[in-house]
Amino acid sequence: MTDRHPLSGPEPDPARDAGHADPPPRVGFFTDTSVCIGCKACEVACKEWNALPEDGLSLTGMSYDNTQGLGASTWRHVAFIEQSAPVEPSAPAPEGRTRLPLLDGEPEPAGAAGELRWLMSSDVCKHCTHAACLDVCPTGSLFRTEFGTVVVQDDICNGCGYCVPACPYGVIEQRPSDGRAFKCTMCYDRLGAGQEPACAKACPTESIQFGPLDELRERAALRVDQLHEAGVPGARLYGHETDDGVGGDGAFFLLLDEPEVYGLPPAPVVTTRDLPTMWKHAGAAALSLLGGVALSFAVAGRGRR
Ligand code: SF4
Ligand code: SF4
Ligand code: SF4
Repeated sequence: MTDRHPLSGPEPDPARDAGHADPPPRVGFFTDTSVCIGCKACEVACKEWNALPEDGLSLTGMSYDNTQGLGASTWRHVAFIEQSAPVEPSAPAPEGRTRLPLLDGEPEPAGAAGELRWLMSSDVCKHCTHAACLDVCPTGSLFRTEFGTVVVQDDICNGCGYCVPACPYGVIEQRPSDGRAFKCTMCYDRLGAGQEPACAKACPTESIQFGPLDELRERAALRVDQLHEAGVPGARLYGHETDDGVGGDGAFFLLLDEPEVYGLPPAPVVTTRDLPTMWKHAGAAALSLLGGVALSFAVAGRGRR
């Protein structure tokens, strides 16, 4: 007998666990932020493929970013983070890829080193191994696909909004115009046709890599080693551990700084993890209350005799 927790911890095959009899290998995204140039082609490709409406283009005054964050109509968001920090020296291109001018070890202009660096990162739904959004959805609008991804169906969503606070990453959002919830579907329609997601297809630097999750994890570990050897000690993976609070993400990242710098929670936990314990405690409290009420009636009845 195993003591595996049904709502958290490692889960080797979420698609099979969700009832798919013979699923294909689980797929996902490895987003290598060290080669992102902030072109936002991924955001545009997502908007175009999914016919997402425009949702405001106001500059924040805090950065050059003009889409601000993930939302009901922004399923990919490229964060621009300006930092006063030493510019990393000569970060190499991944094996077999074109070296980018920005990363090619050009000598810094006099006085520029150590003044400013830009971190750019294309964020998206994490397609969690244990997805609280899916756990709390009462209509079945959110479901686990045969590819192990998490999809929301807008024609079934009733706008209850339970999924919104359940997501530990603040990804899914209700569209203000009609209340229905939207997020990245990992291009479920394209996957079904053997195509890669539109954002990965459009990325000119292959910062967004799509494929079987096991292969991506191996590739990501090699890339971190390569960056460390090249003198980029801040390189680290985020969301790749299968024993973290959500059982690992289907979309994980190579970051160059702490997750908080990118607006990511440092230790996310599936918000439904403690529900069984909470219901057990609530049941015990209700039974104690009923017992107390029954006892008081019994004592009162005996006093009247
Ligand atoms: S990141 Fe949020 S919306 Fe995406 S699968 Fe996980 S819980 Fe659901
Ligand atoms: S996978 Fe598809 S839906 Fe998700 S962010 Fe990329 S383009 Fe948009
Ligand atoms: S398309 Fe690629 S390089 Fe351009 S912003 Fe998106 S992730 Fe970065």
